[in-house]
Amino acid sequence: MSPDNRDETVIRLSAALQRARRVVVFSGAGLSTESGIPDFRSPQGVWSQAKPIEFCEFVSSEAARREAWRRKFIIDRDIRNAQPNRGHRAVHHLVRQGVCHTVITQNIDGLHQASGIPEQVLIEMHGNGTYAKCLECGRRHALAPIEDTFHREGRLPHCEGCGGLVKAATISFGQAMPEQAMARAESAVSDCDLMLVLGSSLVVYPAAAFPLRAKRRGAQLVIINREPTPQDSEADLVFHAEIGPLLGSALEIP
Ligand code: NAD
Repeated sequence: MSPDNRDETVIRLSAALQRARRVVVFSGAGLSTESGIPDFRSPQGVWSQAKPIEFCEFVSSEAARREAWRRKFIIDRDIRNAQPNRGHRAVHHLVRQGVCHTVITQNIDGLHQASGIPEQVLIEMHGNGTYAKCLECGRRHALAPIEDTFHREGRLPHCEGCGGLVKAATISFGQAMPEQAMARAESAVSDCDLMLVLGSSLVVYPAAAFPLRAKRRGAQLVIINREPTPQDSEADLVFHAEIGPLLGSALEIP
């Protein structure tokens, strides 16, 4: 792409964002790759390295739980060291300006919160990987002692309160979606004039249904993703580009 074309791209995105009054951002793992956290479906992504562990395997098999925790502690090294990038800062800018009222994220890395997005604006569709929860009673557990015991004694966590299985507070394949998050997302997409998709392959359902739902209710659909997605043909604007440089330039965020 020549510099002239790049400018043209920035101008088109910037104009669409300036016209919008009620934006919903829908973010995926691609938003955080510029912070050093691998996504799932890029060639070097987590998906291509290992098949995900389904919820029923986690619940029924100690070996699966052990493998899930082992992988989690590896991914956590990237997440712990990560800082919000230019794309996260651009989303925060839209929220601060009052243009974006909801950020629906599939990410579990906590980087939207770290960029300053308030909890009431954020909907975490797939939970949060920065802590763990008891699957029986819902009690919250810190990760550091779980990791320490895992590495020192090889022991898997059980709830201090009820003895139930403890799992990272993320939604695995096959696990029920969080009802409140689903309801909030449903209402947000009925009330937006622009749906901005950032870094999602748009293949993980039910979350991936929300951009199309917004489009069918009259919102403009704008997608920024390195690679094509199955919803490109429905979108009003599609940018196959890096999120940080493009969105950052369109909003003049350094
Ligand atoms: P995905 O991995 O399926 O797709 C990411 C998409 O982003 C890819 O199509 C890729 O081409 C694109 N991309 C990567 N870096 C980009 C960049 N800098 N600029 C523009 N595009 C970029 O991700 P998904 O759709 O979010 O679904 C994966 C699931 O994995 C989610 O449910 C999420 O919970 C989980 N996940 C989360 C994280 C995280 O929290 N950071 C990381 C990995 C996986």
